[in-house]
Amino acid sequence: MSEFSLIRRYFTRATPGAVLGVGDDAALVRVGSGMELAVSTDMLVCGTHFFADADPYLLGHKALAVNISDMAAMGAQPRWATLALSLPAEDDAWLERFSAGFFALADEYHVELIGGDTTQGPLNLTVTIMGEVPQGKALRRDGAQVGDEIWVSGRLGDAALALAHMQGKVVLADASFIATATTLHRPVPRVALGIALRGKAHSAIDISDGLLADLGHILERSKVAAEIQFDQLPLSAHLKPYLAQALGKQCALAGGDDYELCFTAPAARHAELEKLSVQLELPLNCIGNIVAGTGCVVRAADGSEMTIRETGYDHFA
Ligand code: ADP
Ligand code: MG
Repeated sequence: MSEFSLIRRYFTRATPGAVLGVGDDAALVRVGSGMELAVSTDMLVCGTHFFADADPYLLGHKALAVNISDMAAMGAQPRWATLALSLPAEDDAWLERFSAGFFALADEYHVELIGGDTTQGPLNLTVTIMGEVPQGKALRRDGAQVGDEIWVSGRLGDAALALAHMQGKVVLADASFIATATTLHRPVPRVALGIALRGKAHSAIDISDGLLADLGHILERSKVAAEIQFDQLPLSAHLKPYLAQALGKQCALAGGDDYELCFTAPAARHAELEKLSVQLELPLNCIGNIVAGTGCVVRAADGSEMTIRETGYDHFA
């Protein structure tokens, strides 16, 4: 099959939300009046982010999910995506499954694929996502203020626990592995939460590299410090048995790939955020506070300061 029939067959769909979709030198989109365009790119590299034998359906899901998550973290409504694909060979079974996983999530979040690039080479999946956010309303990393509470959505550390099992560092019971592997392979972007936090949260980030690493970006950009209460972290029943070990603490504090949102909001909004959690049927937990200074202290239940070896994943560390 030629490059162009491949694109036509697997990646060309109607795009009623764009002025012009796949097939020209560039796609054309129009943002609503009073809206800003939010743009972000995330790349998945074989051997770094996934194994060569990974299920292509799940890869299609994840390549788009991690990008939609960036829109969620900005409080943006995801609208359009482009897909840059480097493939070792034309493999129809693989492309069929990959595009099915990609479009299943795209349909769920009303994201339209409007372009991309396709080349032969080592397997690499790069998505650029575009979304809309009302002018001045984006949730940024530089808005945290002293007196804010720090919140996270969902549960932390399950994705890292599943990965630890796959790497032979821990042996999970079947049910625990299935549940945590679902978090690892099928992250749920928190778009409704991000949009609901417009005008409420002072700052936000999605947790892709680990809580301490990603919260660290908020602290640095906002020039503030944080106190985290370890026993307030929302951890699953799968992870709890490992908390006495370094591995369990590591998963909770520095485990990447959960794609939950970490955000800060004035303490006066506490009750409102608890109500939002009920409305969205999504756990929202207050895990600490923004304070003056630099860095992040994690306190154990007895108030003592915990020493953390790693804060998260760094490709070049
Ligand atoms: P050009 O040579 O002008 O860059 P290409 O031949 O790379 O164009 O691509 C042809 C059309 O197909 C373009 O509209 C491009 O955006 C689109 N496209 C290429 N690869 C993909 C892909 N993997 N998914 C979606 N659209 C794609
Ligand atoms: Mg091209």
